[in-house]
Amino acid sequence: MDRTINLSRSLLLAAVAVLCTSLHSHAASAPTTRQVFAPVLIYHHVKPLKPSDDAFERGLTVLPGQFAAQLRYLRTGGYHVVTVRQLVQYLHSGAVLPPRPVALTFDDGYADVFQGAYEPLRRAHLSATFFIVPSFLGTPRYLTWRQVKTMSDHGMDIEAHTMTHPDLTRIGPRSVQWQLAESRRELQTNLHRSVRLLAYPYGAYDPAVVAAASRAGYLAAFTTQEGWIESSAHPLREPRVYVDLDDSLPIFAGRVRGDPQVLAQDPT
Ligand SMILES: [Zn+2]
Repeated sequence: MDRTINLSRSLLLAAVAVLCTSLHSHAASAPTTRQVFAPVLIYHHVKPLKPSDDAFERGLTVLPGQFAAQLRYLRTGGYHVVTVRQLVQYLHSGAVLPPRPVALTFDDGYADVFQGAYEPLRRAHLSATFFIVPSFLGTPRYLTWRQVKTMSDHGMDIEAHTMTHPDLTRIGPRSVQWQLAESRRELQTNLHRSVRLLAYPYGAYDPAVVAAASRAGYLAAFTTQEGWIESSAHPLREPRVYVDLDDSLPIFAGRVRGDPQVLAQDPT
């Protein structure tokens, strides 16, 4: 009898030990360890150059023909163009992600991206992420609400870039919270879609801004630091990869491939 009890107790202890080990390893491998190696490309304008465009404007511009060649390269080079939302959903909850993912992002909502980016993307049955500043919409040089709604209705991912595009590290905490929460609310109300992603204006952030982004309900936020998304460890400080006017197609390919020598080059 005693031996039976001892045996049962031994089996029970062994079972508890296995359970504890499994719970422990599960807790240790919880959400922070999911990995992906993907470039999130950053664009602003896609348009022909004008003689009056200064160095700053040129630094934010990619030509329509150049953009078309880049899309062709991604489609024929074995890459899968995904939205940033898809990448974040994978990192956050393990949603399905195709192999060799690349995401395209467009900051500020300039008017030229409707014809220069949205239309070619739509023709190619591809989607991208547009970080929009609601108070800019409908003003000269920027998209209108109607255009943004059209883009959203045709599969483009519309996300937030604050209300008025300030440097969030240089305004007070209440203003930061308003910029983050109000832009999210405005976009969600007008587009009837959830908005969970943010791009920091000028790529500027500090620990207080990151905490505010979390409080405002953002799942991920993007900087302008050069680099690839690698894991879910720092979702509110994700780097991106600049695409530059002077990029030849081989340089662009190097950026997408994560070639360290190409990524180390100053994109401006
Ligand atoms: Zn911006």
